[in-house]
Amino acid sequence: MEMTSRVCPLCGSTDTSRIFAEADFDFNRLDGFAFASRKLPEYMHYRLIECKRCDLLYATPLPREEFLVQGYSEAAYDSSEESHNAARTYASFLPGIMERLADLRGALDIGAGDGAFLEFLLEHGFEGIVGIEPSRAPIAAARHDILPLLREGVFCTEDHDPEKFSLITCFQTLEHLYDPLAMVHGVWRLLKPGGAAFFICHNRRSLSARLLGTKSPIFDIEHLQLFSPESARYLLEQNGFSSVTVSPVVNRYPIRYWMRLAPLPQNLKLPLISAIDRIGLGGLPLSIPAGNIAVIGYKSKSADNAFQALPEMVK
Ligand SMILES: [Zn+2]
Repeated sequence: MEMTSRVCPLCGSTDTSRIFAEADFDFNRLDGFAFASRKLPEYMHYRLIECKRCDLLYATPLPREEFLVQGYSEAAYDSSEESHNAARTYASFLPGIMERLADLRGALDIGAGDGAFLEFLLEHGFEGIVGIEPSRAPIAAARHDILPLLREGVFCTEDHDPEKFSLITCFQTLEHLYDPLAMVHGVWRLLKPGGAAFFICHNRRSLSARLLGTKSPIFDIEHLQLFSPESARYLLEQNGFSSVTVSPVVNRYPIRYWMRLAPLPQNLKLPLISAIDRIGLGGLPLSIPAGNIAVIGYKSKSADNAFQALPEMVK
């Protein structure tokens, strides 16, 4: 495996003096699961640097980009229930965003999975909806009326007309990108003036992440960087977005679903879940802030003033 080093992918800082964790992985244990959005094998990560300037935590060195893209297109997909629960939670932010939008024409979801969020965009009245998804398996599981809206591939700004979309969303994907800054720059170009970018990512400074340390499931070989509220805000403001807000995401799932996610051994977890189902509690909804943040920003209506050039990056 050929490894390559990089500077901070967000602010370009070359200061790598603050080492958060040394590399802990074994390529022999990697298989198709490592690049699915689920969690096998666990507790493997690259060497992680904490950027003193922008607060991003990023992996370096890491494998070359071509290898990772290959991994994603072949990744397995395993849960429609999970994607729909998440999409419902994220859709709770839509009314607040829609209040500020001039129209609902043009919505792009990057890393759309099985298109679960596209269903909510339709419900909320958006038109001209497109989802981009690099993995084949989730697309195959999409609802029949959603399937025509999904495109298999990796997000590329040049594939779309500039200023075409009112809303561009990207959930649980920023961590996986080789160059998140370039992606957000592309999002800015494709938004109409006044349009909104809406991202969901892990918060590495959340209570659960701090309690679990490097045993938190967010420290994972598939995450090339991890954001905090500060670095997430930096990501949008550096790309010219204004009115940026960063807020915690409160997930509302049935108790049995939370238990499936809990960091417990399988042989303990499964009997517990069936016991809870037997006494009729498994289906009760429970709201927990699970360590995600919603990052929302708007492209200024007089967008020329707001845009700042990308920092000169040394690759
Ligand atoms: Zn940085």
